[in-house]
Amino acid sequence: MSDLKELYQEVILDHQKHPRNFGSLSDATHRQEGYNPLCGDRIIVYVKLLNNRIEGIAFQGSGCAISTASASMMTEAVKGKTIEEAEALFHAFHELVTGKPSETSACGKRPPLGKLAVFSGVREFPVRVKCATLAWHTLRAALMGWQGTVSTE
Ligand code: ZN
Repeated sequence: MSDLKELYQEVILDHQKHPRNFGSLSDATHRQEGYNPLCGDRIIVYVKLLNNRIEGIAFQGSGCAISTASASMMTEAVKGKTIEEAEALFHAFHELVTGKPSETSACGKRPPLGKLAVFSGVREFPVRVKCATLAWHTLRAALMGWQGTVSTE
């Protein structure tokens, strides 16, 4: 398990132990469930949108360290951002963890990922990529007003 040891860097463990923005959001305008059957990660993302901007965001769920840490760091990264800015971050993050250009890589510059860059190691573990992207897929579906449960499969 030494490969995973390298993957679980200090910042990821910190977010797993002390997830930020964990809980529900009473005044949420959007709510979305996500599920990663490969690992069993479950998440609910709450978003409060105001004038096209993410005014508030929170999440609940249970999953592995990677999925929890990713959700926690995602909420910090997108809070206060517009939908377009969050979408750009989604693509940048997706490219980081998969090592492949995103579907819309042709359009637009990628924003800096900051702390999210710690997830670059996930690229070496295809199974973990779904853990790391679950929260992002779920957020995206929430913003698009999609109904139902997002599955990474
Ligand atoms: Zn997982």
